[in-house]
Amino acid sequence: MIPNLEPTPRRLGPRLVPMLLRLDAGQVEKLQALAKRTRVPQSVYLREAVADLLAKYSALDSELCPSCRSIVLVDPKGLPVECAEHCGWRAP
Ligand SMILES: [Zn+2]
Repeated sequence: MIPNLEPTPRRLGPRLVPMLLRLDAGQVEKLQALAKRTRVPQSVYLREAVADLLAKYSALDSELCPSCRSIVLVDPKGLPVECAEHCGWRAP
């Protein structure tokens, strides 16, 4: 038999690395049920969640409350309005 010398096709997109973490058992059960029902792998949902998280915090990175360093609520134009933790700070 002739060995297959074709390179293994690589999936497109970013390089993926394994990560071990502990999650809330109830959330894991719900995620498993969602993945089974939709036939979308749990890993796809978790990668989506991390992407959303990073987008949220990178977008807000420069918009931290000058008083308590919590997240700041912004108006539709992206301008800071007030502290999301209600420390009392409001944009001047
Ligand atoms: Zn604050």
